[in-house]
Amino acid sequence: MPEGPLPVDPISGERPEPEPVEGCAQCARLAEGRDRAKYLRDWSFVTDFNIMIRQHPDHGNI
Ligand SMILES: [Zn+2]
Repeated sequence: MPEGPLPVDPISGERPEPEPVEGCAQCARLAEGRDRAKYLRDWSFVTDFNIMIRQHPDHGNI
């Protein structure tokens, strides 16, 4: 897959957010952190968490 910014979702005007993979402890932690970042309205932090969640294959198999 090519690296680079994802296209903007034409419906919401925002990039689609990656879903944490069920059963992956790392994804669960990242999703929790993302929620906290949203609560704090720290959008660059939210983006960081989204990037990490997208890298799920790097979390390794459980
Ligand atoms: Zn994961």
